This record gives sequence, C-alpha cells and structure tokens, in this order.
Amino acid sequence: MDLRFSPEEVAFRDEVRAFIRSHLPADIKERLQDGDSASKEDIVTWQRILNNNGWAAYSWPKEYGGPGWTAVQRMIFLEEIQTCPAPEVNPFNITMLGPVLIQFGTKEQKERFLPRMRNLDDWWCQGFSEPGAGSDLAALKTAAKREGDHYIVNGQKIWTSTAHMADWCFCLVRTNPQAQKRQEGISFLLIDMKTPGITVRPIISIDGHHHLNEVFLDDVKVPVNMRVYEENKGWDVAKFLLGNERTGIARIGKSKERIQFAKEKAKEMREGGRPLSEDPEFRRRVAQLETEAKALEITQLRVISAYDKEGGNKPDPLSSVLKVKGTELLQASTELAMDVGGPLSMPDWEEELEALTNEPEVGPQWATEATRSYLFLRAASIYGGTNEIMKNIVSKAVLGL
Ligand SMILES: Cc1cc2nc3c(=O)[nH]c(=O)nc-3n(C[C@H](O)[C@H](O)[C@H](O)COP(=O)(O)OP(=O)(O)OC[C@H]3O[C@@H](n4cnc5c(N)ncnc54)[C@H](O)[C@@H]3O)c2cc1C
Repeated sequence: MDLRFSPEEVAFRDEVRAFIRSHLPADIKERLQDGDSASKEDIVTWQRILNNNGWAAYSWPKEYGGPGWTAVQRMIFLEEIQTCPAPEVNPFNITMLGPVLIQFGTKEQKERFLPRMRNLDDWWCQGFSEPGAGSDLAALKTAAKREGDHYIVNGQKIWTSTAHMADWCFCLVRTNPQAQKRQEGISFLLIDMKTPGITVRPIISIDGHHHLNEVFLDDVKVPVNMRVYEENKGWDVAKFLLGNERTGIARIGKSKERIQFAKEKAKEMREGGRPLSEDPEFRRRVAQLETEAKALEITQLRVISAYDKEGGNKPDPLSSVLKVKGTELLQASTELAMDVGGPLSMPDWEEELEALTNEPEVGPQWATEATRSYLFLRAASIYGGTNEIMKNIVSKAVLGL
C-alpha cells in the first residue's frame, strides 16, 4: 500500500492551502493563532466564504452542494483548516445532520434545510444526551406523544453544545415507551428552538466559557413532518449519525497546530537562562508528540484509503481507534502548549476578581488561552462517545473479542 499522497492529492493540498491563506480574514486568523476559540460570528463568516467556493459541506456529494471529494481529500482539507488555523465548519450542520438528511430525509426536508445548513443560515445543535442517558443513550426518556399532526414533547436534554446560539435542534425522543427493546421506541425529530416550551440553561465549563447547556422541553409542539425517517426507527438514524461523528474526530491537524504553537512560544520563554526551546526535556516531549502525530497520521491514511476503496459510505469501527489516539494526542499537545507558559499560564479569567483587585493580568493572552484550551479539551475523551466506549467497540468490532 502506498501511504504517500499522489501528485493529484499534493496539487489539491496546495490549492486548499492557497485558498485558505488568501481568503481567511486576518483578524480571525490572528485570534485563532493566539489560541482563542472561534466565535459564532467567526464561524459563520468563514463557513460562508467556504460555501461560496463550494467547500463548506466538504463531506457531502455534489448533488447536494458538496464538492464530492474522496475521503483522502476530506482529510487533507480538514488538516489544512486545523493547522492554519482557521475555524472549523459547524459540525452539527455538516458532519452530523447533513449526511443524515441526505440518507434519510424527505424531499421537502432536504430542500428546506440542506442549503441553509451549508451557508449556516440555520445553526443546529444536537439533543441526544440526558441526565440518565449518555453512554447508555438508549435509556433516553424525553417523551413525544402523537396528537394529530403534531408530537407533544416533554423532557430534558443535557450537555447540549451551543444550544444557546442554535436555531434548530435535532433530537432523539421516545415515541413508544412500551417497545420490547428500548432502541425500538425512539424517533428522530427536528425541533425549532423558537418553539414555545423550550428553556435553555447555561452550564459553564472548567475553562470559564459557555459552550454547554441544559435544554428543558415542556409541552413543545413539533409537526409530524419534522420527523426524520420512520416513527420508532430513530435509533437507526442515530447509529448512522454517530458513526459519521467519529470520522475526522482524530483532529490531528489541531494537535499539530498546538505542537507548532508550543515550539514557537518556547523560543520566547527562558529556562535556566536559555530559551526553553533548547531545553533537552522540552525537546524530548516535542519529539515524542511529533512521532505520535506522524504514526497516527499513517494509521488515519490507512483507514481512510481502505474506506475510499470500499466505496466509502459505511462508518468504519476502526474510526474508534482514531478517536481514542487522536484525543489522547490532542490532550497531550494542549498540555505541552500550556506548560510552555509555566506560571504565566495561570488562569486569570475571573473578571469580577480582577475588577475588585485591579491586578494586571498574570501572563500574556496566549498563555491563559493555552490553559483554557487544555482545560476544555479534557472533555475530548468524553464527547462523541467516551474513550472507554470506543475501546469496547474496538475490542468487539475490530479485534473480535
Ligand atoms: C464538552 C461536551 C460536549 C458535549 N456536547 C454534546 C451535545 O452537543 N449533544 C449531546 O447530546 N451530548 C453532548 N455531550 C454529552 C456526551 O455525549 C456524553 O457526556 C457522553 O456520551 C458520556 O455520557 P455521560 O456524560 O452521561 O457519562 P456516562 O455514560 O455516565 O459515563 C461515566 C463514565 O463511565 C464510563 N462508562 C459508561 N459506560 C461504560 C461501559 N459500558 N464500559 C466502560 N465504561 C463505561 C464512561 O466512559 C465514563 O468514564 C457533550 C459532552 C461534553 C463533555
């Protein structure tokens, strides 16, 4: 097997790189280079620029407004976005719901939603997890009772990323509490977040930011034509979606960007009177992470080329290996970036405290942002299916244990 890019793939990478360099607004790039996360406005601006070029829905087929790329091209595109760094497209719209509507949606659902999803005219969020249903998702209790041409939805979702900025939510609900198997009583609904009865409550995460929410649904009326696929067959849709969610989840480009960032900043920091970049222990850590990134890249290419050869429309259980190793590497890379700042990376985002004490910031913004990023990405081994669950999948579906 040839694990090098073909000349066409190298030309494609150069084209993507040149496009990103010439079209990404300078202020967005500057913020991201400082380690700041992209704001909603940044993501919308950038996704629209990509959409004008036909690239926003990078994993969709041409007939639905995607570029119709191979899996290797998609991997190259993501890596270029992440290493630049540029904002990543909204994953709820593009990686999760888009392929679901293409596979299972009605003609009306496709026509109404897909173009708006590409252009980020609608921001979607994912209402799957509940207080008693995370890894064991089939335990979900949020109930949808049919009344004429509507469902009346009651229940609670949790950890709903970006629900506070979302226009719509794709939700798993229980439509048949009597089903013999729990998985057989679930449906997949599209819910307009402006519908009366929806309350969104923030959860502030350990990095001090508001990404996450609880969503309460009290007698929320959802038209039956907002159900995707058959009633009580939502589990099939969810399995398809979760398989896609894990594709690209290795985020090797992001890890590489963090390692590069750490190397650059280490030139400015001093350790024992010399630049930190010359410290043998620092260099050993960098070498180890770069080796792991290379090894993971080769594994990813191996998985992805096999996927392309097989026609590439079925999620592969091997993507669970990429998720586990990718998130471990991402966590180690963000830890390296934070460690470079040393004491300057002390969190200083207690704005009220700052106002009271009138203390100057402890360190430069890049150092505190590196800490925020380190803290938030502890969650990378939890979201999208925990790494323990991924290891269960690998042991059963890949190793046959
Ligand atoms: C930052 C963040 C963003 C998120 N965004 C969203 C979102 O937008 N929408 C959404 O629906 N959900 C979201 N989630 C929820 C996420 O999908 C769940 O947190 C995840 O599925 C785990 O569920 P849980 O938190 O209930 O933990 P639990 O399932 O209760 O697990 C607790 C611990 O037990 C382990 N465990 C559980 N079962 C097994 C098993 N069978 N074998 C071995 N170990 C096991 C887990 O690995 C974990 O360590 C998000 C979570 C986070 C942290």
